[in-house]
Amino acid sequence: MIRRYLGNYNSFTCTAGQCPDTCCSGWMIEIDDASLEKYALLKDTNFELFNNKIDWTLNTFIRRENGDCSFLREDGLCQLQRTLGEETLCMTCDKYPRHMEEFPGVREYSLSISCPAVAEDFVALSETISFAEESDVVSDNDDYPDFNELVYNKLIDLRQLFFQCLKSNNVPFERKCAGIHSVLVDVQEHLDFGQWANCDENAPKLISQSSGYQLSSLEAFVTFRTLEPLRDGFIQWTRSIEGLVALADTAAMTEFRNSIPCLELLKTNLCYYFIYTYFCGSIYDDYVYAQGQQAIFNTQLIEYLLFGKWLENKKSLSKKEASEIIYKYSRELEHSNDNLILLEQLLDQANQ
Ligand code: SF4
Repeated sequence: MIRRYLGNYNSFTCTAGQCPDTCCSGWMIEIDDASLEKYALLKDTNFELFNNKIDWTLNTFIRRENGDCSFLREDGLCQLQRTLGEETLCMTCDKYPRHMEEFPGVREYSLSISCPAVAEDFVALSETISFAEESDVVSDNDDYPDFNELVYNKLIDLRQLFFQCLKSNNVPFERKCAGIHSVLVDVQEHLDFGQWANCDENAPKLISQSSGYQLSSLEAFVTFRTLEPLRDGFIQWTRSIEGLVALADTAAMTEFRNSIPCLELLKTNLCYYFIYTYFCGSIYDDYVYAQGQQAIFNTQLIEYLLFGKWLENKKSLSKKEASEIIYKYSRELEHSNDNLILLEQLLDQANQ
């Protein structure tokens, strides 16, 4: 098996009780079948512990009125884990924020930036992120019906080209986006006409010829507003700064960019993260353009949110505030399959 690990995947440590915004709150945690069976056996001998904490019809943990998982203690720790041990955690709680994408003989791992500890590390990065690759003798016993190896290899090559483009020095981020965007449009066109074999023939030329790509703030916010809101506080805040961003002129954006020295690197790394995590998954649904474009969309929208915070603060933005915006945005998107799919569809339609 080939295994790829993005960034500092293997050194992640959960900050547990110190976490400013625990993942044990604000979303519906689905319980996998194996854990559900385990809980069904344990609940008879641990009645008090399990009483009213699991919805056995929806297979989820019951949430309190404030959105907390009913196993969450006041000190930010999990009552289930503290009482019965780490091995009783369901798959989601055990793995989060670790994420894995599967392809035949390949596993790609990353840490979700929806976790505050991961987002904080992300903002603190001093160089462009990359992934490490290793292989072992474990064989892949999963089935991949209709998996197209040729197309997958093309996607891997294209992704590599995008990474090279993102890593190029002294090129403004918007120019990198323009190159990636032109390639995505061209490749999707080839795909729509069934021309997979030569779908990447124009890619190197398109990457080097492009000038600049910037989503308008209106387009970015309107699309974001179409998604299902998960956390009211954050959504209301995005609405409150949308007007500020819309009223700001180009000079203010330039001043913002110049005043945050690590911004270019942060945008590059965010775009890298989204491309690494989602682009090759388009092998399963053919939304090649949309899976690549969402990386540009998410990164540019996050930049507008950071800009909005900077304006709201009267021209200042701390690293803590930046990481908070990143993980909160990621939660709205990446903690909802419906939102991930809807964004993909909206971006695909915009390319029609
Ligand atoms: S969000 Fe991250 S740091 Fe916070 S409790 Fe969950 S895994 Fe730990």
